[in-house]
Amino acid sequence: MDKDSSDLVMSMIHARSSQLADGDPIGPPIVTTAKYKLSGTPDTPYTYGRDINPTVEATEAAIQALEQAPTVAFPSGMAAITAALMATTKAGDRVLVPSDGYYVTRVLLEDILSGHDIRFDAIPTKDIATADLTPYSVVWLETPSNPGLDLCSIRSISETAKSSDATVVVDNTTLTPLLQRPLDLGADMVVSSDTKAMAGHSDCLYGHIATRDEALFQKAWKWRKVSGSIPDPFASFLVHRGLMTLELRLQRMCTNAAALVDHLDGQPAIRELKYPGVGFVIGLTFSSEALAERFIDDCPAIFASTSFGGIHTSAERRARWGDDVADGFVRLSVGCEPTGALIKAIETTLETL
Ligand SMILES: *Cc1c(COP(=O)(O)O)cnc(C)c1O
Repeated sequence: MDKDSSDLVMSMIHARSSQLADGDPIGPPIVTTAKYKLSGTPDTPYTYGRDINPTVEATEAAIQALEQAPTVAFPSGMAAITAALMATTKAGDRVLVPSDGYYVTRVLLEDILSGHDIRFDAIPTKDIATADLTPYSVVWLETPSNPGLDLCSIRSISETAKSSDATVVVDNTTLTPLLQRPLDLGADMVVSSDTKAMAGHSDCLYGHIATRDEALFQKAWKWRKVSGSIPDPFASFLVHRGLMTLELRLQRMCTNAAALVDHLDGQPAIRELKYPGVGFVIGLTFSSEALAERFIDDCPAIFASTSFGGIHTSAERRARWGDDVADGFVRLSVGCEPTGALIKAIETTLETL
């Protein structure tokens, strides 16, 4: 981890300390209330539970310390993505999205937002850098893309987008702000599904947007308030707790992933291995759907499940959701298990295929 990241983790872990008086709890209390005491002229920020909640605010402060940008939390990644599109688009606009990115973002555009006169084009991540960006009000990036793990340069695309006044939004779910900071690379807004590595324990859904653009921040905040998409305090508590070990978890997950890549590359059962060189997600292509399913089912160190970024190693065949990948393509999300034991379990299973 570079020095910058250490500073971010320090400020996140200690985000609460400056506000605490003697006797205050170190961890954020779970505050469950729809209403706050509010008499006369409402001159407190705490008015109603749909607008604001102290547990949500504590989690936003922790994420904000990582993003180094004003942050709004949402009850899921898709709720954050919806807010980001609501904040950045209007009728008549055109959005460029990666055809190999998280597919529900495209479903939202195609099935819902197209009916509100917001159009989109989808092209592969690797082609975005050379595409003509002038028709677009929003350029949506996801690098590495999910599940294909292709890359694009946030910095150079943001520069190109600026010349035509397009807003650049980056879905940074797969790397988190500790491994990639899109706002420092020129993007206007970050969205994330914190359901994944940020919360890390696969026990709740969450999401956030972060932006240093005051107008975009206000629009996203307003969207949350009027659409009623504030996260609940229990999930906020779980995410806050998970964030406290984000750096530790990522270290183990990335070490495990790199070690696995070394051991798996060249294994006869695997036709192609894809690893972007950073992070904890590995793409493995087996020669058939059957072989891929056997690998996932037979390996005792792998949970067969969708999603990624949790403490448990998990895997799935993405073609089952209709992703544009080979039938034998498996997305392996590497977890926090002890490195040697994980490699041994996976290698042993591969030998039986
Ligand atoms: C999972 C995911 C989402 C959606 O997040 P939810 O929390 O499941 O709503 C969005 N983008 C990416 C890249 C994801 O992996």
